[in-house]
Amino acid sequence: MRAAIEAILPQVVAWRRDFHAHPELSFAEHRTGARVAELLRGFGCDSVETGWSGTGVVAVINGRAPVGKNGRRRIGLRADMDALPISEASGVAFASTVPGVMHACGHDGHTAMLLAAAQYLTATRGFAGQAVLIFQPGEEAGGGARAMIAEGFLDRYPLDEVYALHNMPGLAVGAYASRPGPIMAAADMFSIEISGRGGHAAQPHLALDPVMIAGHVLVALQTVVARNVDPLKPAVLSVSTVVSDGSGACVVPGRVVLTGTVRSFEGAVQDLIEERLRAVVTGVAAAHGGVAVVEYLRDAPATVNDAGCAAQALAVARGLSAQVDGDVAPMMVSEDFSEFLLRVPGAFMFVGNGEGALLHHPAYAFNDAGLPFGAAWLAGMVEARG
Ligand SMILES: [Zn+2]
Ligand SMILES: [Zn+2]
Repeated sequence: MRAAIEAILPQVVAWRRDFHAHPELSFAEHRTGARVAELLRGFGCDSVETGWSGTGVVAVINGRAPVGKNGRRRIGLRADMDALPISEASGVAFASTVPGVMHACGHDGHTAMLLAAAQYLTATRGFAGQAVLIFQPGEEAGGGARAMIAEGFLDRYPLDEVYALHNMPGLAVGAYASRPGPIMAAADMFSIEISGRGGHAAQPHLALDPVMIAGHVLVALQTVVARNVDPLKPAVLSVSTVVSDGSGACVVPGRVVLTGTVRSFEGAVQDLIEERLRAVVTGVAAAHGGVAVVEYLRDAPATVNDAGCAAQALAVARGLSAQVDGDVAPMMVSEDFSEFLLRVPGAFMFVGNGEGALLHHPAYAFNDAGLPFGAAWLAGMVEARG
């Protein structure tokens, strides 16, 4: 299989670089989705649907036997298509032509990998069941997978198993890494609006300073993970932005907004953190005479690999490479493929991107040498499980 994919590699690299030069933000993947659909039709997929949650594309490739007969399975493979609001500084010749937008997470590469798998699977049909290829919108902004599922994707395509991958800087090209059970965290987002009373900074006793309250809130929030969560259970609470409506060094502003994120793996920990965050914020603000309003949003659930599917995913990887880590450390980042894994057994795989800048960095560069490893693993999952 590797030889067949190597043979089409130059055009896969060309697709990838074309996507890279024309990045599109979450839910605006119009050009990308159209190009993906055009290529899938050209390969001879049995069906190609566009317009899932706006720009999503779903293609079906039938194997040699009908799904459901003799245990033949419908296997989902998912890629993400969106880019990030980052100004590219990678220095590559085919850099983004869209100011302020960049494929800094390698979703251009994931899309090209799944297209390569589609071309290989349509040409060879060396499997029994059915492959359902999912090119989803809106992974970065979040909600793309959830939106497709809400539109009835899993009713129309009742998957037996589902698989996806992500490139990983720092993991050698040709290496794979996964694990049974939790592999990426749940991501919650919060916003805290603290209201005081503006005034002259030289006369703070006549005002109610929300900046000072925000400082106490920020520090007190660090006790939630440190003093409330079981030390053996991973959790992160980060305050990431602090913005006041102040207009100068001598002005007490009327309002400060803090935003941040919470990461965890277990529902009980997630519930505890949300409850403590709300209590700490409102209590600290009240202690200083201010008022705080908390908005708390559960964005992506934890990504949890089915143990059996993870074993299958690792077995396929071992058939392709000697460098396979079957017990990679779980990461506190998140991934909305988790929405599929909540409902369908499956597994998520990391594929090596080699040394270089990390994901979401302006200097990040997807490594085309990893394309055949991702494509071969995706196609291999259908051949092994379909
Ligand atoms: Zn990303
Ligand atoms: Zn990503």
